Amino acid sequence: MTDKLYYNDGELRAFDARVLSCREENGAYSVELDRSALFPGGGGQEADSGTLNGIPVTGMYESDETVYHILPEPLEPGSAVHGTVDWALRFPRMQGHSGEHIFSGTVHRLFGGENVGFHMGAGEMTLDFSAELSAGDIARAELEANRAVWADIPLRSQLPSDTELRHMEYRSKKELAGRVRIVEIPGVDMCACCAPHVARTGEIGLIKVLDAMRHRGGTRISLVCGEQAYRDYAALHRVNAHSSALLSARRLETDAAVERLLRENEDKHSAITALKRELLAFKAASLPETDGNLCIFEDGLDPVTLRELVNAGVEKCSGICAAFSGSDGNYKYVIGSKSVDLRAVSGEINAAISGRGGGSSAMLQGTSTAGRAVIEAYFKT
Ligand SMILES: [Zn+2]
Repeated sequence: MTDKLYYNDGELRAFDARVLSCREENGAYSVELDRSALFPGGGGQEADSGTLNGIPVTGMYESDETVYHILPEPLEPGSAVHGTVDWALRFPRMQGHSGEHIFSGTVHRLFGGENVGFHMGAGEMTLDFSAELSAGDIARAELEANRAVWADIPLRSQLPSDTELRHMEYRSKKELAGRVRIVEIPGVDMCACCAPHVARTGEIGLIKVLDAMRHRGGTRISLVCGEQAYRDYAALHRVNAHSSALLSARRLETDAAVERLLRENEDKHSAITALKRELLAFKAASLPETDGNLCIFEDGLDPVTLRELVNAGVEKCSGICAAFSGSDGNYKYVIGSKSVDLRAVSGEINAAISGRGGGSSAMLQGTSTAGRAVIEAYFKT
């Protein structure tokens, strides 16, 4: 059994211990110490990184209350070791995990929702609650949680006896076996947890909900705390400042400016569509009365407009009206006729104009990889 120094002091960055055992395991060495400040992972939080006598700890695990440190080199049983904790990695994780306790405890106190799932990744944390929380509930819990941070409350950790534990009210995700450690944030939360925590809530700095969605009859929350919340704020500020400059909008009015822009864009789109229709009517009216086939090339027409142009064209010619939009090697086409069964000749047409497509006896639609000269020569005949 290892004396887990992080149970009572999550802020130990270095420690001295004695090697109890060292055995070879899959080409590396599994080292047991009498005490360790390195956290082997658990409760949603990953294992620490660190060193023992300057040798990097490449992995950790726990079995039967004993913490094992995986090293690339062996350590002599009975010898003294000096260990270090990778603080740059550990501290933000503690800020996140302690912040999660505060937020979950606050939701539990205010709305009775249980935290039924917790994941801490490299980015934001996800918390699953059994209760459906409204946007208003979440905003209230977020503010209350931050008030607990600002109150700078000292955390308490204890290993109660079975009898004491039976009389305690605490949050727990599952039935726990063995010694249960309770992490208490007085007035805010009481929870069974095996991970290292900050000493005082003030160290968390900030708790911010990024997103919330319905999940399995409850609510899934994305949360950032501490350093991660700061980094998120800094990134968001950078993006918003850029948007603010581009839109010539005040920094808290960028959303209104984007909405205005979208509305203007929609109006312009409507105006362009109306103009296109006018232009099409004009073009259709000016198509020549043709004895035989009519072949039209127009830039930038969508399939619907192309079809409308062909509908007008078939009235002006006695044969086939074929309309193409695009460029040599990459045309979209619509072909119509009132006199020719197009379905019967679609194979011949596609072969002649390197096309793909089909349709009804009155209208074909498709693409062509031929050049304009080849297409025009075919429809002239
Ligand atoms: Zn925890």
